[in-house]
Amino acid sequence: MSLCGWGRTTYARVSACTPADKTGVGEAIGAVDDHGLIVYAGGRSYGDVALNSGGGTILSAALKQIHAFDPDSGELVCGPGITFNDLLRRFLPDGYMAPVSPGTGYVSVGGAVANDVHGKNHDHAGSFGDHVLWMDLMLPDGQPVRVSPDEHPDLFAATIGGAGLTGVIVTVCFRMRKVLSNAVVLREERIPDLDAFLSRLEQVRSSKTYTVGWIDTLARGSRLGRGILESADPADRSLPSATSRRVRVPVDFPGFVLNPWTVRAFNQLYYHRVPRGGRERRVLVERFLYPLDALLDWNRIYGKRGFFQFQCVLPDELSAAGLPRLLETISRSRSSSFLTTIKTLGGAGRGYLSFPMRGYTLALDLPHRPGIEALLDRLARITLEHGGRTYLAKDAWLSPGHFQQMYPGLEKFVRVLEKIDPEVRMNSDLARRLQIRLPH
Ligand SMILES: Cc1cc2nc3c(=O)[nH]c(=O)nc-3n(C[C@H](O)[C@H](O)[C@H](O)COP(=O)(O)OP(=O)(O)OC[C@H]3O[C@@H](n4cnc5c(N)ncnc54)[C@H](O)[C@@H]3O)c2cc1C
Repeated sequence: MSLCGWGRTTYARVSACTPADKTGVGEAIGAVDDHGLIVYAGGRSYGDVALNSGGGTILSAALKQIHAFDPDSGELVCGPGITFNDLLRRFLPDGYMAPVSPGTGYVSVGGAVANDVHGKNHDHAGSFGDHVLWMDLMLPDGQPVRVSPDEHPDLFAATIGGAGLTGVIVTVCFRMRKVLSNAVVLREERIPDLDAFLSRLEQVRSSKTYTVGWIDTLARGSRLGRGILESADPADRSLPSATSRRVRVPVDFPGFVLNPWTVRAFNQLYYHRVPRGGRERRVLVERFLYPLDALLDWNRIYGKRGFFQFQCVLPDELSAAGLPRLLETISRSRSSSFLTTIKTLGGAGRGYLSFPMRGYTLALDLPHRPGIEALLDRLARITLEHGGRTYLAKDAWLSPGHFQQMYPGLEKFVRVLEKIDPEVRMNSDLARRLQIRLPH
């Protein structure tokens, strides 16, 4: 079958199977050939981290069992194919939520571990890997092993954020968070420029549970970095739950639809949607966490050629210098990005290749047009010059040289792989592109 990343710039022809349990996973590992194996879960990574051209692929969608749940501690033991949507449906009515959630409910728990995903509450809750108590992993040679911070700590640190290269995660135990309601109290405010954005984010990152900003990347000059800041805390009273209405994008939009004029018009509307003095209201947690999920297949808006997402993080101390350079470069390129988000991250993750560091993260979509690769290279260079890194979950273009400089934990990661997978049975297009297996 053919699989693709969410950005639809990366495709792979693979031999896939959908095991229903650990025995099926063991059989798939036993059948691996020279082209190796990778897991493809929710398919919400933008690039090639879950693709393995010409090789084997485990589709993990059927590994959805809930093995145990302890309401006192919130500890949940489940299969890796369970999604954040599943968790919300099953546990929110009883007052529990995932401790950390990415921006779409279609991501699986296995994908959340393998990219050590972060949410809008990173300053307070860290990334998903920070909440994992233990995992059962099927190693590349088919042997089962339990990993935790105490049992095989190296393998645990390589698996959190390890891009699926240490084996197949078959069970995950993590702690769910207790909540009083199904809603958050959301405050939205207009922010006139980047300086104001950074100082306002700095104020709210410690006082509010959730923070996320939207930036108008076409704004220039004195308006560079203007946008909307959203901050929220859990509400203590529920809202009536509503079945979420979802609309599907039925076709690939023609390329000309997305141009600086349409994006400028969208950005104007989006900015002025919030009154000058801001507003505060209760909204369902699902709508706040997963606003894009209301529009199914929204990646088709970028047309057949797809789009790249660029996400980087810069450390606190270099953000005030680096973010304007990134935004000016993007704005000058006139590459249209509707949804540029900015968030704060609170600190490093537990994985050798975890993306987070304390700082500011910027994420934006760039349509696949001539010249885009040079722009991505420029953005990666600016990121490096300011001590930052780009996010593998979103990446389809980073060079091996830039990758090595951005991820100082790479050496330890590779040492673990050499020990557990000398024959390179786990492999992916991303691992080959970034030359992860070469000695560093
Ligand atoms: C709209 C949108 C919003 C997003 N927002 C955020 C965000 O706010 N924060 C954030 O951090 N990310 C975000 N992401 C990215 C997304 O969270 C990650 O790419 C995530 O890893 C995708 O998980 P998935 O289940 O779709 O897995 P896939 O994309 O299919 O796979 C991701 C990786 O996990 C590995 N994997 C999956 N299951 C297993 C398993 N059982 N064993 C071993 N390896 C496994 C795969 O091999 C692959 O390397 C967003 C993506 C989208 C489309």
